[in-house]
Amino acid sequence: NVLSPQTGSEEQGKLENCIRPQKFIDYIGQEDLKDVLEIAIKAARSRKDVLDHLLLYGPPGLGKTTMAMILASEMEVNYQITSAPALERPRDIIGLLVNLKWGDIIFIDEIHRLSRMTEEILYPAMEDYRLDITTGKGSSTRVRSIPLAKFTLVGATTKVGAINSPLRDRFGLVQKLRFYEVNELSKIVLRTAQLLKSPLSEDGAIEIARRSRGTPRIANRLLRRVRDYAEVKLLGEINQDVAAEALQLFQVDPCGLDWTDRRMLSVIIEQFNGGPVGLETIAAATSEDTQTIEEVYEPYLMQIGYLGRTSRGRIATTAAYQHLGFKPPNEQML
Ligand code: ATP
Repeated sequence: NVLSPQTGSEEQGKLENCIRPQKFIDYIGQEDLKDVLEIAIKAARSRKDVLDHLLLYGPPGLGKTTMAMILASEMEVNYQITSAPALERPRDIIGLLVNLKWGDIIFIDEIHRLSRMTEEILYPAMEDYRLDITTGKGSSTRVRSIPLAKFTLVGATTKVGAINSPLRDRFGLVQKLRFYEVNELSKIVLRTAQLLKSPLSEDGAIEIARRSRGTPRIANRLLRRVRDYAEVKLLGEINQDVAAEALQLFQVDPCGLDWTDRRMLSVIIEQFNGGPVGLETIAAATSEDTQTIEEVYEPYLMQIGYLGRTSRGRIATTAAYQHLGFKPPNEQML
């Protein structure tokens, strides 16, 4: 699915590393986040201290991993990237922690999925840079503490509400990433096109940006698809018409909606008079699981004002009726 915000196989290779921004200056948008982090970096550097632990949250593909890498580069320290499912056993996290050097950054993706035992090892490690190892059982239980190098933990999550408060409270900085505006995404694809040596006009970039669901990962992927199309058809520069033609072929609609988005909205409109409709019903109608609907589809539909959430369920807005070519309910009564 070209519109999935999750990493695809082609986004794990060398090319991805070449287009990923390495410095703040290349990291487009998220101005509030960059302001906060630039101050944190300056303060840490002037105190000759490590960066505070940082929790980044927001939908997938918005640049959390990239930001962790930039922080390491700006602080001139090493980084390790891992994710909660890879830290299931205590020895996984212990192995990581004992090998850290002063200032190193550990990036843990999907941090809301950490096991309880791993979380408990992290508490003293984050707070006092100490590893508490418990040996023995019952009355012969002993706790041995090992000092760790001072480090920074950068946690990333799409579900900030699912993080236990003792863990959340240990992050000095908690920052949200928001969806990108069309002008920001168009700058991102223009930069990527330059790196890929692919001629792209401003209006071509805007056309790709409009269909990218506010997400840089999707924008870069759509650019690659359009680039293939333009190369195969010998179309030369990618302008607005070429981009629109190519993306129509991949069934990416002008607002970036895919089959599941359209199905979600049309079920609410056609079968439930615009809602409210429960999440389970929407999941059944689209054959998607409730978690994907909640974490991937709904945030974008709400962001563009097509979907509303009420205590009784989801509702389709007037804009959604119009986009799908239905008469909004207030007009139906006229
Ligand atoms: P996930 O949580 O799914 O792993 P993520 O939020 O960590 O996603 P990244 O892997 O950091 O997302 O970003 C996806 C891709 O989008 C990156 O490879 C990078 O090239 C591009 N990208 C992300 N943010 C920006 C940005 N602000 N400016 C330019 N490119 C960006």
